[in-house]
Amino acid sequence: MKIIHNYINGKLLAPESGAYLDNYNPAKGEVYAKVPDSDVRDVERAYAAANAAFPAWSATSITERSRILHKIADLIAANLDRLAVAESLDNGKPIWLAKQVDIPRASSNFRFFAQAITQFATQAHEMTDAINYTLRQPLGVVGTISPWNLPLYLFTWKIAPALAAGNTVIAKPSEVTPMTAFLLSELCIEAGLPKGVLNIVHGDGLKVGAEMTKHPKIKAISFTGSTRVGREIARVAAPMFKKISLEMGGKNPNIIFADCNYEKMLTTTLRSSFANQGQICLCGSRVFVEASLYERFKADFVRLTQSTMQVGPPTEATSKLGAVVSKAHYEKILSYIELAKEEGGTILTGGKAVFPAGHEHGWYIEPTIIEGLPADCRTNQEEIFGPVVTIMPFETEAEVLAYANDIPYGLSSTIWTENISRANRISKAIDAGIVWVNTWLLRDLRTPFGGVKHSGVGREGGFEALRFFTEAKNVCIQF
Ligand code: NAD
Repeated sequence: MKIIHNYINGKLLAPESGAYLDNYNPAKGEVYAKVPDSDVRDVERAYAAANAAFPAWSATSITERSRILHKIADLIAANLDRLAVAESLDNGKPIWLAKQVDIPRASSNFRFFAQAITQFATQAHEMTDAINYTLRQPLGVVGTISPWNLPLYLFTWKIAPALAAGNTVIAKPSEVTPMTAFLLSELCIEAGLPKGVLNIVHGDGLKVGAEMTKHPKIKAISFTGSTRVGREIARVAAPMFKKISLEMGGKNPNIIFADCNYEKMLTTTLRSSFANQGQICLCGSRVFVEASLYERFKADFVRLTQSTMQVGPPTEATSKLGAVVSKAHYEKILSYIELAKEEGGTILTGGKAVFPAGHEHGWYIEPTIIEGLPADCRTNQEEIFGPVVTIMPFETEAEVLAYANDIPYGLSSTIWTENISRANRISKAIDAGIVWVNTWLLRDLRTPFGGVKHSGVGREGGFEALRFFTEAKNVCIQF
């Protein structure tokens, strides 16, 4: 049994409680590691370490901070295979996927912000008899809280800009997928990150995340996770005037017009529907297809899902989908498939659990396509976050825009059309923080990332993240 440790003040430590939570391998449905069941005492210990480290780290030159972040990026890249296997074991995603996407991106996150901080500049405003200049100063001790779907990828997406900007950090990974955050703590020690600059506290959301949120001296919370928890963080943090960045749930529309590049749309739609078992906040779970193309699309989409979207153990190179992350999540997804049937939906393919040989106790679900549901039913309004999509025909641009926008969420959207005017019209009118036209999940780390409505508050990425993790101060000097 592997034992995970907290990383506090440069050391790998047991939780103050001495208690541990079970950590499951979703591919087999068995416990394989123990996660610290930390509590307020560990958060306080991490705060003391981060607070003590702040004066020196914030005064460390940008060149030196950048050098250390580059070193962490190098070490993640050098440990690609080991980290990919660990991520897959912890999360259930295929090893090939973790190796192609999750771990390279975690390294890129550090490398990107190691470079970005060297280019981050402030403004000066001249008056006839005076000059104003703006300082961008680190906040102090900040908190980051992340989810289980892209564990190391999203964990580092917050930590890297926070550290680059000169803050010290208390980071809480998901208790469901803690392993790569733990391995990262070992790499930070190897990289020579000074003690206390990054502290990783493992454990339950209510015992660790909630304590971080209500801590009077933690200056900001950067959160990625469900809308339910984001709302709770906002409720607690707002009266404390704490800075918050919330990246939350989505129910993203994938809008397909008959004039699209059909082959590209089809192969991309398979990915945007089922990649990472559909557990990416950016997956297009509501697929709207122009009526004249609907029957052709439906036949091809179902056929290709059945013939190419193999579900199996994450260790197999042939598995396109691995296991979903936990028993609770597995049951939630299956309950939504039942709901879809109750609401009158027709399951075109999938709809059931899968039991691969030798992995009968793992949590596998077939990629599932549902039709025949109205846009306003629960299946089409609530986030399922699994390998489940609905398809629905539309006649006009106005009609599909209403379907797309008539929902509490507004994270991302995908539009397939060769008509540039239409692409621009819909991009402007759609309620989403991110619009992809004729592509999906093509990411430039400089661009603003986040959602509107119940999907997000604030933006990550590029200088937006560096602005979030700094406070502007204007200095006015009269001559
Ligand atoms: P979750 O909200 O259950 O948990 C996220 C994190 O918050 C975990 O570390 C958890 O321990 C912690 N937490 C739980 N309760 C807390 C509390 N009261 N106070 C503070 N922290 C608390 O989400 P999840 O199930 O881990 O992740 C799935 C969700 O994340 C989905 O809704 C998905 O859409 C969303 N997500 C959004 C984005 C995005 O960029 N918008 C990216 C990935 C995932």
